[in-house]
Amino acid sequence: MNFMSQYDLILRNGTLVTAAGVKQADLAIVDGRVVAIDAELAGTGKEEIDARGLYVFPGVIDAHVHFNEPGRTEWEGFATGTRALAAGGTTTFFDMPLNAHPPTIDAASFDLKLAAAQATALVDFALWGGIVPGNLDQLDELAGRGVIGFKAFMSNSGIEDFPSVDDLTLYEGMARAAKLGKIVAVHAENDQITSRLAQRAIAEGRTGIRDYLASRPVVAELEAIERAILFASETGCALHIVHVSSGRGIQLVTAARQRGINVSCETCPHYLVLAVAKCAPPLRSQEEQEALWQQVHAGNVPMVTSDHSPAPASMKADSNFFKVWGGISGCQSLLQLLLTEGYERRQLPLTMIAALTSEYVAQRFGPLPGKGSLAVGADADIVLVDLQDSSMLHDDQLFYRHRHSPYVGKTLRGRIGRTMVRGRTVFLEGKVVSEPTGRLIRQAGLYE
Ligand SMILES: [Zn+2]
Repeated sequence: MNFMSQYDLILRNGTLVTAAGVKQADLAIVDGRVVAIDAELAGTGKEEIDARGLYVFPGVIDAHVHFNEPGRTEWEGFATGTRALAAGGTTTFFDMPLNAHPPTIDAASFDLKLAAAQATALVDFALWGGIVPGNLDQLDELAGRGVIGFKAFMSNSGIEDFPSVDDLTLYEGMARAAKLGKIVAVHAENDQITSRLAQRAIAEGRTGIRDYLASRPVVAELEAIERAILFASETGCALHIVHVSSGRGIQLVTAARQRGINVSCETCPHYLVLAVAKCAPPLRSQEEQEALWQQVHAGNVPMVTSDHSPAPASMKADSNFFKVWGGISGCQSLLQLLLTEGYERRQLPLTMIAALTSEYVAQRFGPLPGKGSLAVGADADIVLVDLQDSSMLHDDQLFYRHRHSPYVGKTLRGRIGRTMVRGRTVFLEGKVVSEPTGRLIRQAGLYE
């Protein structure tokens, strides 16, 4: 028998959820890592938490957020953004290169963003670099800094300092990324179709929500996905299609993967849940939404990300829908939305939710040492969820800088009771309880 505590912390009797299965077990932590998992763990911890009746998920890894710092911190920033993540059970995020100013397109801008994130991030993070016309010679230095991958826009990004790529820039950028061993993520919409339809609608004074939706038809998404897949196939570059909005888009990616092309994709809760909001690609019809759910169930959607892209409320209000800021504040609700619309409404297995939100993400963008699993040896990135609880989301529960979200008023399943990053509790029962100690994570082999 041990008479001294050999563990820092033991979570007792929780129901552990991983992609591999759901089981009741005790989990012990030392120095921020999971060191033992057993049905009835012997020994004691300096601290013990009774997790009976609670579900223990691997911390969510949100591969797609825009926290807009430095330069547009008035839209969000790492301090408020990461508090929202912690409140939603997210322990790692990947910040996109645009909407910060300067955008993350060279080493200097990477360093600025890294300093800002290290100062205030509550949870761990990685940074995306950007591919824009004219910065291909900077991809090497960005890779050297440890970017998780490179993001490019095939259509207008809505942000002047992050122009879309022409086909040659994308093709050559992917060839370089392949040499650097980096994945390229694309916003896939055909720019000629979307921008000319938008110009035509605006010229004719058709600026309502339906006009906006009509200016970004599914075909624009499908064509761009196919083109990006062709470039990936030609260059050998690993490709990731962000925020696929249609079931047919997912089918194209699945078919390419079956042909042996290294391509993955994500969708976002807004495409699965909402009927009215502005984003790009736009929300689709209800039939398209159901098709997307079918693809999720079939296992063809490997991850769900928030694409959290906030802005002040004033930018969300304009009678001309083309002028409204196209972005959704939702990162705090990512896991709960999947528990509500997936697990509760559509019997999506909890194991699949763990894969979609954490395990697969770490695999695809990794290897990310310690991330994406509840196994022995992993970082103790853990979220405790009370699945018995359902309650309505109020704006005063949001940790965003601007407390609005299309999910306010929605009844969400699963209360996030505690979020731990490397064994440290950062969020507990509605409150942030830690100083910001988020760290940059990088793929294995890149640590200095
Ligand atoms: Zn985005």
